[in-house]
Amino acid sequence: MIALVTRMPEAQEKLWLTSLSEKMPGETIVPFRHLDDAAREKVDIAIVANPDPADIARLPGLKWIHSVWAGVERLVGELGDSNLPIVRLVDPQLSRTMAEAVLAWTYYLFRDMPAYAKFQREHVWQQLAYRRPQDVTVGLLGLGALGAEASLRLKDAGFNVIGWSRSAKSVEGVKSFHGDQGLEDLLAQSEILVCLLPLTAETRGLLDAARLSMLPQDASLINFARGPIVIADDVIKALDSGLMKHAVLDVFDVEPLPADAALWDHPAITVLPHISAPTDRETAAAIVAGNILAYRDAGTLPPTVDLARGY
Ligand code: NAP
Repeated sequence: MIALVTRMPEAQEKLWLTSLSEKMPGETIVPFRHLDDAAREKVDIAIVANPDPADIARLPGLKWIHSVWAGVERLVGELGDSNLPIVRLVDPQLSRTMAEAVLAWTYYLFRDMPAYAKFQREHVWQQLAYRRPQDVTVGLLGLGALGAEASLRLKDAGFNVIGWSRSAKSVEGVKSFHGDQGLEDLLAQSEILVCLLPLTAETRGLLDAARLSMLPQDASLINFARGPIVIADDVIKALDSGLMKHAVLDVFDVEPLPADAALWDHPAITVLPHISAPTDRETAAAIVAGNILAYRDAGTLPPTVDLARGY
């Protein structure tokens, strides 16, 4: 039996239940809130979305967990000690959606849309010099499921793309860096820096004042990963001091971003409400179902989250 363990509103959870049940007609999938003691004993797989760890602890026969989200920092923090295998969502549709967002907001910065919006507000007729994309370097932090696809879209659009990852990578047409020195080398060249890293012990606070100061003059930042990877106050200081030009932030330390947060009103910050790459329920449910059916058939699991590494 499969438990659906979420902290979603019931109506939203129902939509997931319908999509998952359609993709796995032979499975019994029951929301945790509807499981009695006897049924909980029979659950061997949990499909989760921000589950309450206390609910997971009440499933004694659980063998593994499949999350319907790509980011797992909360699961690792809350369930890491249980040592249950965790499978996260790796969905080509999610990668395409994120790559589209990266391209869209890279264009926003590259074609100086923040400046032209300001000129219009001020009734100023001013033309900025055009630069070709191949003369602009976009640095990607993270070359995983999302970063790799984003690198392809950016390359197709003609940008000079460089990337940083934990292990050495060879991506055709993308100069790749790793390690501390690699990060410094990438930062020094990134006129537009895009963060697509997971939030782990190593990446928390990674983009602080010292690292932001390594960027070229007038660089911009796009953070589509997780808020705490970036020290927001340091971004504000870098913008105010004229070191950086603009920041597009989709993720924050606290979400929703509190109404009194300084970020909302900063003229050089674009605030987005965590919309760069929403999970597509239909494609995600198909992928979760494929993984569960493969487990039922052959006992195999897709790559699981490395709990020590944190992603
Ligand atoms: P992924 O496939 O696990 O890729 C992570 C990448 O980051 C890999 O290239 C990895 O290097 C690199 N990395 C991790 N730790 C590092 C470190 N300490 N130093 C250097 N590089 C490091 O993850 P993904 O699927 O691309 O997703 C990335 C993140 O995006 C998720 O964790 C989630 O938080 C976020 N996300 C945001 C949204 C949104 O709507 N805003 C939507 C979905 C996901 P290796 O390749 O060497 O392992």
